[in-house]
Amino acid sequence: MRTLLVMSVLVSSVVLAQQPPQRSKEEMLKEAKRISDLMNKAEQKPVVLTPPEQLFKKGKATLLYALPINKPAGYREYLRFVSDEGLLKEAVATVNGLVELPRDITVFFRDCGEPNAFYEPKTGNIHFCFELVQLFDQLYSKVAQSPEQAKDLIRGAVFFVFFHEFGHALTHELGLPVTGKEEDAVDQFATLLLLEQGERGEKAALAGATFFLALSEQNPKGKLKFWDEHSLDAQRFYNIACWLFGASPFQQVNLVAKGLLPAERAARCGTEYQQLRQSWKTIADPKLKRPIK
Ligand SMILES: [Zn+2]
Repeated sequence: MRTLLVMSVLVSSVVLAQQPPQRSKEEMLKEAKRISDLMNKAEQKPVVLTPPEQLFKKGKATLLYALPINKPAGYREYLRFVSDEGLLKEAVATVNGLVELPRDITVFFRDCGEPNAFYEPKTGNIHFCFELVQLFDQLYSKVAQSPEQAKDLIRGAVFFVFFHEFGHALTHELGLPVTGKEEDAVDQFATLLLLEQGERGEKAALAGATFFLALSEQNPKGKLKFWDEHSLDAQRFYNIACWLFGASPFQQVNLVAKGLLPAERAARCGTEYQQLRQSWKTIADPKLKRPIK
């Protein structure tokens, strides 16, 4: 991971923020049907899409793969990666096992014209842009030891970002209190959900953290967005690294040993992790189908 500190990749700004919708649910549904038909005609191996009867079930999150309007290069490749691997499908199943929402929401995998992912408070929907997966690929391919390791990092980052966005959804759909930065709080939520999955989840959270570290390496120091609702990319990396270390100091000792997480911060990460975990449990557990582990 140390190599990340010197990597140089062209990256456009990624905000993982709330943005206004570009297309309606009806338009997305039409597109989904079209991409399903087109892809299943063109390929021998069919794309597994959510059956129409399972769409928009009350109180559930459902996944929809949407056909890009402008057919951008690479879309099909990343759609196939995400759908074949069942990444978002598994992530959506995880959150459906956690909570019954007051209304149905849809998770769109789509083209957005920029690498992004965002929750839309008006509709409750979550939009995951294929361009973000493309960006993960570009970044991780430069630092991974092997193509398989790069794919592992992409898988992990998809989970992290989805759980981050679902953290926004959970907060707004359930009206959960937030004091301080919501963006930091939902990074906490994403990390907690991943930690429930043991070693695999720890790796996914680390992949998410690595993404922010890589982004911070691209950003000229003079252009840091101190005003942004997100913490700085480097801070998001140190936060996630701290929480991982706080949760499992023995498993994550390399974060400190390799100098990625300064000892000054690491010393308090156990307390910080316990506090954020207990806070999320206090806020969310009474409204969930099962408690956060
Ligand atoms: Zn966010």
